Amino acid sequence: MRSEGNTSTRPEIKESKYHSSAGPLGVSDPVDPHPLTETFLKGCEAIGIPRHKDYNDGTQLGAAVLQTTTKGGERCSSSHAYLHPNLHRRNLKILANAHVTRVLFNSSKQATGVALRMGRSEPGLLVSARREVILCAGAVHSPHLLMLSGIGPRKQLEEKGIPVVADLPGVGQNLQDHLFMPVTYSANVTTIGKHVETLPNTLSYLIKRRGVLTSNGLESCAFVQTGVRKDLGARPDMQIHFFAGCGDPKDSENFGVAKEFAAEGKEQTTMGFTALPTLLHPRSTGEITLRSADPFDAPVIQPNYLKHPDDAKVMVEGCKISQRIIESKAFDGVRLGRRGVGAGFDLRNPHRDRPNSDDYWEWMARSSASTVYHPVGTCRMGPVDRKETVVSPTLEVVGVKGLRVADCSIMPTLISGNTNAPAIMVGEKAADIIKAFWSEERVLREARDQERTSHL
Ligand SMILES: Cc1cc2nc3c(=O)[nH]c(=O)nc-3n(C[C@H](O)[C@H](O)[C@H](O)COP(=O)(O)OP(=O)(O)OC[C@H]3O[C@@H](n4cnc5c(N)ncnc54)[C@H](O)[C@@H]3O)c2cc1C
Repeated sequence: MRSEGNTSTRPEIKESKYHSSAGPLGVSDPVDPHPLTETFLKGCEAIGIPRHKDYNDGTQLGAAVLQTTTKGGERCSSSHAYLHPNLHRRNLKILANAHVTRVLFNSSKQATGVALRMGRSEPGLLVSARREVILCAGAVHSPHLLMLSGIGPRKQLEEKGIPVVADLPGVGQNLQDHLFMPVTYSANVTTIGKHVETLPNTLSYLIKRRGVLTSNGLESCAFVQTGVRKDLGARPDMQIHFFAGCGDPKDSENFGVAKEFAAEGKEQTTMGFTALPTLLHPRSTGEITLRSADPFDAPVIQPNYLKHPDDAKVMVEGCKISQRIIESKAFDGVRLGRRGVGAGFDLRNPHRDRPNSDDYWEWMARSSASTVYHPVGTCRMGPVDRKETVVSPTLEVVGVKGLRVADCSIMPTLISGNTNAPAIMVGEKAADIIKAFWSEERVLREARDQERTSHL
């Protein structure tokens, strides 16, 4: 909430104790929502999913219009919100394209700085830290960097010839990610895709910050309980994103839409919409491991998506709920037919003669689901005496001194929604913790100095 600069004029947001308009991060409602956004909300209501005015008011279940990190019709990234306004600060130095290769330690296991290179063949540079080092390289690269620096599972480090600084078995483990899969229908209305990048739409965006180019097409979603997970209390196990568009041939893979959809032809790819059932709380966990000791070698990412049978069950139920929403009366008149059923795409599906069966949907999930890019958990926060813990509640890496991690990797479990705002919240909280630590440290040091002087 501290980060949030919400510009919504809706009373349920403006007057809510859960929102703020004072933060640096622009948050807003869609400027010119696609008509199908409202159709989706009506489709949800038609099957008993109530409309929710604000899924951030402490209760999440229901269907709602999505707010995005945008300001005046333009994306507001964390760089725009936090870095750009502070570029003038003398205590901020930004080195773009610097590749940190490891954290440096002295013989007391105190972090003293980082080694970096401006390119694989460039000479190494050392940057020293007067107080501490804070790693924010994300859920893939924070554990990677810890392991390259000698902090991680001993066996793995020794196998790669990396001297062990701290044997922490939890580093790189507990990888969790959101997974979604497209349930796509052909439509008889034009939807969102590359084809909307026309001159009039571009001018409308450039001159007025209005129109279809102010949106990424994902303007609504429903948080639901499929009934599979009984252990989540009032929390949803499924988020159904609604995209007022479908895969374009060129970027179909980006959206997890199988190439075969794209091959169906231009008309269909510009006229279709997609529900994206998203598994919120996977029981399956994966891991990040070292490929080699070379910092320029990407680590191995093993996500283990859908390994646990409950995860596949939730996905199947999510697909069926999506189907019911879209096949409700609300979509009559715009819905043509479900993609992947009938011609073309489903020829590989061994259950294609039963396109509404659980087997059919599970096969689809296993063959065309993709990451929502929400990895977390690989430098898990927890009690310091537990072997899986990587960072303490104050974000300090266990077993060494002067090193913290502050990014999505510290989350012990996935949250019931998108991870960008929570990642920023971790940063805000880290700033508070670090400032409090060092001001307390200064007070103690001054008291010690004073005591020493009085003894002289
Ligand atoms: C395509 C995509 C779409 C997404 N869409 C959404 C969305 O709609 N809503 C939402 O809430 N979330 C979304 N997310 C997720 C969101 O972006 C992440 O949860 C969030 O950025 C995670 O923040 P982080 O600080 O943990 O890591 P990151 O944002 O990944 O930051 C890590 C940084 O460390 C740098 N780095 C890594 N290794 C090194 C190294 N060795 N040396 C120097 N620098 C290094 C990286 O370049 C990067 O800048 C999306 C993510 C992706 C990839």
